[in-house]
Amino acid sequence: MSRITPLVRPNIAALTPYSTARDEYDGPIGIFLDANESPYENGYNRYPDPHQAELKARIGGIKGIPVKSLFLGNGSDEAIDLVFRIFCEPGKDNAVIMAPSYGMYGVAAAINDVEVRNIRLDADFNLDSEKLLGACDERTKVIFLCSPNNPSGNAFELKQLLDICDRFPGVVIVDEAYADFSEKGSLAKEATVRENLIVLQTLSKARAMAGLRIGLAISSEEVIRLMSMVKYPYNLSRAAMEKAFQFLEKPIDDEVNTIVNERKRLASILPRFPFVQRVFPSDANFILVRVDDANALYDYLLGKGIIVRNRTRVPGCAGCLRLTVGLPAENESLLNALDSYTV
Ligand code: PMP
Repeated sequence: MSRITPLVRPNIAALTPYSTARDEYDGPIGIFLDANESPYENGYNRYPDPHQAELKARIGGIKGIPVKSLFLGNGSDEAIDLVFRIFCEPGKDNAVIMAPSYGMYGVAAAINDVEVRNIRLDADFNLDSEKLLGACDERTKVIFLCSPNNPSGNAFELKQLLDICDRFPGVVIVDEAYADFSEKGSLAKEATVRENLIVLQTLSKARAMAGLRIGLAISSEEVIRLMSMVKYPYNLSRAAMEKAFQFLEKPIDDEVNTIVNERKRLASILPRFPFVQRVFPSDANFILVRVDDANALYDYLLGKGIIVRNRTRVPGCAGCLRLTVGLPAENESLLNALDSYTV
């Protein structure tokens, strides 16, 4: 029995997953009269592969991750929801989440009727492991960590994240949506050999496919088997998988380098504006800045046709705007607009 087995909700452990027509017969040729599909070929009249074998092999090959350790979902948001559905008993279990962080952890918890214990990062967005682990009790099934963190942008040392993993008896999720922009590295390989670690990644950010909705979970074979059992049978469309396969041919190094260089450029220029109080260090494709009057600046930029994310109401982010790094010309437009801003 693995460390994970006792954490799984009994109804999930006992689940007989839906068996698709393609599970029962997946040979290449024949007259398919088994899935109640339309026989009129248009490229999409047949259901897609529920196991996403080709795309998984491709992504696994690129990332050096065995296919058995890889789950693909409708964005990493799907994987976040599945974690609650698999491990957390509604109305009983709780999740410990670092805060501020990505809002969907809390929303998915609320949808699944799971109590959230938000553990605040310090004023510089550092993570206090003792405080985090101290908030856990016997009903804490999962801890959510995000590195690089959204909205603060900072990545944590891998050593700190692994130490939490070692010390917590439940499941640790490390969301690496922005890891391609970071020099701090990834825990993806570790997740294949550690039973209680789930690393989330996505094709939505550095891979430039947010519109396709494809997210990854990397974990032990047992966790991936559970996630695959609970997901909707055809959770990725044929169209999304085909496009992703095609886009994965293209290297992203130049784009990522440009974004990282632009982030560094913005981070060096932004402190010069008199209304900018603080530029938080970022390992992601965005920068969190604290300004004198976030609402006023947000409205001003909106008036100039520049949409940023106003985070001033998020606890720990008072006065903060989150600026996504755009194309060099777009960043220049932002800087020009800031130049002509008079408080
Ligand atoms: N994790 C983090 C930290 C994010 O910021 C986001 C999206 N903004 C996601 C996950 C969701 O990504 P996806 O598009 O894969 O659902």
